[in-house]
Amino acid sequence: MHEERAEIGKLTKRLNQLGEYLDRFLQFEHPDAVQQANEWRAALGGGLPEEGCGADRVIELMGEHLIPNGSQIPKPGCTSFITTGGTSIGLLASLSGAVASPQRLGMTAFNFLEELSLQWMAEMFELPDGMKGVYSSGGSVANLVCLGAARQWAFEGIGVDPAAEGVSVPGRIYASASSHHTIHRAAAVLGLGRRSVVAIPVDSRGRMSVEALRNQLLKDKEKQLLPVAIVANAGSTSTGAIDPLQRIGEIAREFNVWFHVDGAYGLPGILDPVVRPLFKGVELADSVIVDPHKWLGAPVGIGASYVKDRDLLQRAFTQEEADYLEGSCPEDEPIKSSMDSLGIPYSDFGLELSAPSRGAVVWAMLKEIGREGMRARVCRHNAMAKALAELVREHANLELLQEPSLSICCFRYVHENCDDLNVLNRRIHRELIRRGTSLPSTALLDGKLAIRPCFIGARTDWQQVDNLVSQVIDIGRQLSTAVDL
Ligand SMILES: *Cc1c(COP(=O)(O)O)cnc(C)c1O
Repeated sequence: MHEERAEIGKLTKRLNQLGEYLDRFLQFEHPDAVQQANEWRAALGGGLPEEGCGADRVIELMGEHLIPNGSQIPKPGCTSFITTGGTSIGLLASLSGAVASPQRLGMTAFNFLEELSLQWMAEMFELPDGMKGVYSSGGSVANLVCLGAARQWAFEGIGVDPAAEGVSVPGRIYASASSHHTIHRAAAVLGLGRRSVVAIPVDSRGRMSVEALRNQLLKDKEKQLLPVAIVANAGSTSTGAIDPLQRIGEIAREFNVWFHVDGAYGLPGILDPVVRPLFKGVELADSVIVDPHKWLGAPVGIGASYVKDRDLLQRAFTQEEADYLEGSCPEDEPIKSSMDSLGIPYSDFGLELSAPSRGAVVWAMLKEIGREGMRARVCRHNAMAKALAELVREHANLELLQEPSLSICCFRYVHENCDDLNVLNRRIHRELIRRGTSLPSTALLDGKLAIRPCFIGARTDWQQVDNLVSQVIDIGRQLSTAVDL
């Protein structure tokens, strides 16, 4: 029988073992998980274990059945959605935190890196002076946290504390028609309702129409609807479009409305001198989000929210005093132990009380390759999207559906004898996934189904561009000469 007390001093050997399994996984020589589902389900499944089998056997099961049947997402050729595998240093920092600082709180070195890494990112992404941040699990929660600050600010302006009392009048959030649906969910959770999000139309390059925004604000002002926030994309999810931040920011100032910039994916694009001018106006933002677990290559579970005034977050998300904490950390005595203070009260700035040390992960990634290393990666990915667009333009059977702004390129295969190009491209995409070396996702642009690679993986390099184009052409040719089309 294995008892529950965790053994100390056994990590080195087990990490070595695990490291070998993980390195082997990253060779991607194993078949896709679905191929052998019966086998791994039998090996890993079964009923609730009555007696444990011990850590050695668990590691063996992980190495033989769990890890090799993981996801395709970390593959260099996977350009689906906006996601990738973490870089090694980030994964190792994450593991270090799990062992040495399981909570972000306390006067520890890990806690110190929460604030320092947030500040480093603010500097790297040229955020307005004085903006302060808080980590959360990702863009969904990060947007919710920032819109919580926006709600607080807007309702306090009419003499209501919405966090304490709830919302008193209908509010409105203005977001581009191509905004991420986490904005709508945040509106729902914050008591404003999904329908409070007004979709502002976009132009042919996916950017919010400033005219339409202004007209909508004027119209709603007459109806006395409370404007809560204007949400701009710094890199939309479908195409990477960057809204005209400067002009939107100026309108927000003019109408006295909170200006939120969703840079979950695209904010690191500011590192690329070619596209940096498109980010002008981010300095007018009242709040900004970025996901280190996207372009920076952190393991999934790290988003960052920034606001101009962190006191607003405290008012929006405080849990107020609680008996179960009373007296645990003396406030009026000198700090002599890391347990004497919780440090910066991050748990009052967002939704999470227990939360891992995420700052060490971002710190480690930036320490490893620096701003210049990040810049090189972002520039490479943006250049890959442009190079792909060029190849698409040169080929008679390929059509570019939108000029890339960042590292996403939307295109499709075209053929004169085909009367439903969406069906054709859906089939091309399915076949790409089956072949399994080039794995983009798809998106609908003005009713047209696009093949949509997003280059963000640290291991994704130039050969993926040629590989994707040649496979799409090859599959497109085969399918469009098939009789049943
Ligand atoms: C990915 C994304 C989100 C959601 O982020 P998660 O980390 O997946 O929760 C929000 N907004 C934009 C623009 C995104 O690209």
